[in-house]
Amino acid sequence: MPSDPDLDLRGRLIRGLGSLRDMLPGSFVERKRACGRPNCHCADGKQLHTQYQISVLVEGQPKAFNVPAKLVEQVRKQVEMRGRFDAAAATICGINLKRLLKQKEDQ
Ligand SMILES: [Zn+2]
Repeated sequence: MPSDPDLDLRGRLIRGLGSLRDMLPGSFVERKRACGRPNCHCADGKQLHTQYQISVLVEGQPKAFNVPAKLVEQVRKQVEMRGRFDAAAATICGINLKRLLKQKEDQ
């Protein structure tokens, strides 16, 4: 039986989802801020601190969670995983819809 390129793609995407198991929701945000200490270098309003956050909807409400510097690269990657997961899901759904429409035609 000749292989169906759509099914090959679907299989590859499904098998790839396991590598996205650590995905995180929301978006990764980089903010500049002053800490408020009068003697800090940020007090001039120019050399601000960089603060990293993930911005997430929790029960419909936007929430921001601080990300410690040592976790920034990890969290950034985990948030990107969600995008890849969504893209894979959209492609898989597209393939399945196409197959459904084909199935209907064949009946
Ligand atoms: Zn400061």
